[in-house]
Amino acid sequence: MNTIPREICKQVGRFFNIKTLLKIKRPVFLPFYHVVSDEKLPHILNYNYRNTSQFEKELDFYLKYFKPVGLKELVNGTYSDDDFHLSFDDGLRECSDVIAPVLLRKGIPATFFVNPGFVDNKALFHKYRASVVLTRLKNLSAEKAAQITGHKKVSSNEFLKTTILNENLIDELAQKLEINFDDFLASQQPYLTSAQIFDLKNKGFSIGAHSFNHPEFWKIDTAQQTEEISKSLNWLTSTILPEIKSFAFPFTDSGVPKQVFDTMFNDFGFDVSFGTAGVKYDELANHFQRYPVEQPGDFLHNLKGEFVYLELRNKIGKSIVKH
Ligand SMILES: [Zn+2]
Repeated sequence: MNTIPREICKQVGRFFNIKTLLKIKRPVFLPFYHVVSDEKLPHILNYNYRNTSQFEKELDFYLKYFKPVGLKELVNGTYSDDDFHLSFDDGLRECSDVIAPVLLRKGIPATFFVNPGFVDNKALFHKYRASVVLTRLKNLSAEKAAQITGHKKVSSNEFLKTTILNENLIDELAQKLEINFDDFLASQQPYLTSAQIFDLKNKGFSIGAHSFNHPEFWKIDTAQQTEEISKSLNWLTSTILPEIKSFAFPFTDSGVPKQVFDTMFNDFGFDVSFGTAGVKYDELANHFQRYPVEQPGDFLHNLKGEFVYLELRNKIGKSIVKH
């Protein structure tokens, strides 16, 4: 079903009113974000994060068309398809500084998925390291950037891809640019601290695991995937003591073998897990797909396209197994 281009669905979606599209048979709505900030964050170039005013508008949209629901209701199955549950990946500091105060004011529950390897600003996710490098390169003259990288044109997309694909290159370029990631972590403080995570929990938010240090699961074997999951769960259960054991796959759950899910649920005792495949029914019980909001393009336009895509899957798709 991945052969239906989403871009075509977006064009088709333009002709529909959102109210009409919301009549489509659909699963519980699970939009997710990473960060909300009014500042230019040097470590984030890989997705279109929202400023506070955009974020509040989007929250008002959700509240207009859906009802907020907690993680517990999702796990217990006591939710309806008109509900929504918000979540935020990667455990960035703004979850506590910017996002939580807005959610509390509006009475919206949420889950924050954290990577224990980065909590307390211990290390920086490789994609964020690539963004820091690229941000610095973009501030240089074209000549100087070409001299350092060996590339004539340091364009955002193309270059970010090559740096992300090659971790040695990130560190090599960082060295040439005299970027010290420990200094960056100390000054920028991109991540939540353990104390902040605890405080979010005490304010009623759910805290879940997002793997230990956010590797691409398709690049590691099953044993390593399981290790990443168990290490992040061990930190969660020994530090945060969450009521519900939840896991959001880093990047995507696509290609993760069934055996890994079995280990998660049967051996590790997870209550629920999440992927990032959009508004979509999933075949596995207690595994939900979330909608990535921070895509390029207009919020409503993208969402309408997503519902058109869902309807096509409903009509011709095979994997229409409801939870
Ligand atoms: Zn992530």
